[in-house]
Amino acid sequence: MKAARFYGPGKPLKVEDVTIPKVGCNDVLIKVKACGVCYSDVHKLHGSVILEHTPITLGHEISGEIAEIGTDVKGFRKGDRVAVCCMVPCGHCQLCLTGRENICARGEVTIGMQLDGGLAEYTLAPAGNVFKIPDTISFEEAAILTDALATPYHAIRLLCIKPGDWVVIYGMGGLGMCAVQVANVNGGRVIGVDLFDQKLKMAKELGAEYTINATKENPVRRTIELTKGGADIAMEFIGLAKTVQQAIKSVKRSGKVMLVGIGKGVFNVDWQDILFKQLSLFGCYGVVRADFPKLIELVSTGRINLKRLITHIVPLTEANKAIEILDKKIGDPIRVVVKPEEQIK
Ligand SMILES: [Zn+2]
Ligand SMILES: [Zn+2]
Repeated sequence: MKAARFYGPGKPLKVEDVTIPKVGCNDVLIKVKACGVCYSDVHKLHGSVILEHTPITLGHEISGEIAEIGTDVKGFRKGDRVAVCCMVPCGHCQLCLTGRENICARGEVTIGMQLDGGLAEYTLAPAGNVFKIPDTISFEEAAILTDALATPYHAIRLLCIKPGDWVVIYGMGGLGMCAVQVANVNGGRVIGVDLFDQKLKMAKELGAEYTINATKENPVRRTIELTKGGADIAMEFIGLAKTVQQAIKSVKRSGKVMLVGIGKGVFNVDWQDILFKQLSLFGCYGVVRADFPKLIELVSTGRINLKRLITHIVPLTEANKAIEILDKKIGDPIRVVVKPEEQIK
């Protein structure tokens, strides 16, 4: 089968022939129908996210059809349409047992990072990470659901948004756009911040009450003005010190700040902003399997719109192109999906 293999930072992915993986007794083999490319994949190619074992097949936003079933697996049939939760936890450490399997004590084991992923014709997943999807969800939407939606959903669940809470969201990429919608579903009033007007326009269509173009207005000042004193919650989806600092300054006393964007290094915070404001700073990484049934329902009932976010569909043979589109922002991408069966146009 064909797979897009990562050989290390600075090197393009190699689309090459590899053997179809052998199915373990608790695994299912999935014929990949769609695999989302994530900004974290761009980070891997640039070396700002390091993968210890290479070569590896990238792709952690996977949907497809069950092609083969391990001998101990129950509840699946060949041809079932499924979405895959990429994070594979140990299942028995204290963190796993208390609903925090995304930060499992064993360390991260993620399909598409430490295990071969979905930028391939077939991929393997433990049956416990696989969820059936209804016909009302396309494979492209199901792929996006597994990370671009599941990650902000998880973060918002940790924040416990109350109806009427002001939520300012920095970064209107794939995850930010999903955060807008999930915050809305929770009764939050959303302010979207970005540098590009076309993204802000889409954020409004998806439920942002206000938007701020940070190249034209100071997002902190404008948020404080719109909310009459500061947002209840700020979320950062970019991973830059500057926007983290802005997020911290955007919330009112006793506000909450959530970091989701992947960054590197350190950022400076003013004592005044945390201590005297009695602010809560949160981080959230990755996804948990328990969220998947609800995510699938939210998308299949149209409460969350993922179709609108898929701006590019690319064949597997052009996997490098998919990453380049995100990296260089070719054609205003929000989410890029790779489809093994897609032909080069
Ligand atoms: Zn991702
Ligand atoms: Zn664990």
